[in-house]
Amino acid sequence: MHCGRFRTLLRLPLACTYPFFIGTELACAGGTNLYGLMSEDLDLKDILKASGFRFNKALGQNFITDGNLLCAIVADSGVTSEDVVIEIGTGAGTLTRALAATAKRVISFEVDKNLAPVLDLSLKGIENAEVVFRDILRMTDEELTAIVGCPFKVVANLPYYVTTPMILRFLESELPSLSLTVMVQKEVADRLVANVGSPDYSSISLAVQAAGNARITRAVGKKMFYPMPSVDSAVVRIDVDRNKLSGENVALVKKIIRAAFAMRRKTLVNNLVVAFGVSKAEGTAIVEDVGLSPLVRGEALSLSDFVALSRSPLLCR
Ligand code: SAM
Repeated sequence: MHCGRFRTLLRLPLACTYPFFIGTELACAGGTNLYGLMSEDLDLKDILKASGFRFNKALGQNFITDGNLLCAIVADSGVTSEDVVIEIGTGAGTLTRALAATAKRVISFEVDKNLAPVLDLSLKGIENAEVVFRDILRMTDEELTAIVGCPFKVVANLPYYVTTPMILRFLESELPSLSLTVMVQKEVADRLVANVGSPDYSSISLAVQAAGNARITRAVGKKMFYPMPSVDSAVVRIDVDRNKLSGENVALVKKIIRAAFAMRRKTLVNNLVVAFGVSKAEGTAIVEDVGLSPLVRGEALSLSDFVALSRSPLLCR
């Protein structure tokens, strides 16, 4: 695999031209030293410090500081030389560069323009990677399509403060995402892949199930990041399957799911009454018609139960 050259990515010997990426091709090319720094062993922390970069905690800036992990994420994503990749959150460009070594093209979106000087250096000479300094959550589908222009895979060490909106941005839009491979907090990962019956099962588990098939590919300890976050993480891969609910009223299925989890302690019937304005008797009939107990709670329903409910004439009127 192409990624082998990143193995010692973040430990830097003296006098590297491209200090983030001490690989066989790039190591110490040119024999000069960035920033005029003289030290026996520079690493990511030194580079960021030397470039005057200040971490913005509010933007979820916890960068990956392990070369093997970068390679593992690329492998987990299944990205090949045929793939165009969208990365969310370029950071210092380490994952961007690892992806570019394998993918056809990487388009990485970063909201923090203060990273520009760092990225000028870390991505220098990488022809198939480009950084777009935009808040990806504020971009329309049309804007993204104009930049990317073809089906793509999403790979990201997600900023934790916006994990769910970022994932839904790609799962629930018309954008042609093929898969999402994302680093998220461990507890979020558990929710993303949870099935009915699990305490982690929630509306986001169902949103993922409705759009594809998800699995945790690896657990990642908090020590793998700089600065170190307070919680452990995991990588989740979601392979998008747009046919899962084909022929169904997807908007209604989602509305019922939202209603069912709106007040978790309430019965499904009571939540339907509130969300759809049906009477209690109608709510009971809707639930019994699909073979469920009128006392059931939303958390006990599978995706196919929600689809069955969406076919009720009383809900789609
Ligand atoms: N990919 C890098 C890595 O793995 O080391 C950085 C990951 S860091 C967890 C998340 C990055 O996302 C930060 O650089 C942060 O500035 C950026 N970010 C946060 N919110 C964003 C947004 N709405 N749009 C684009 N980038 C964002």
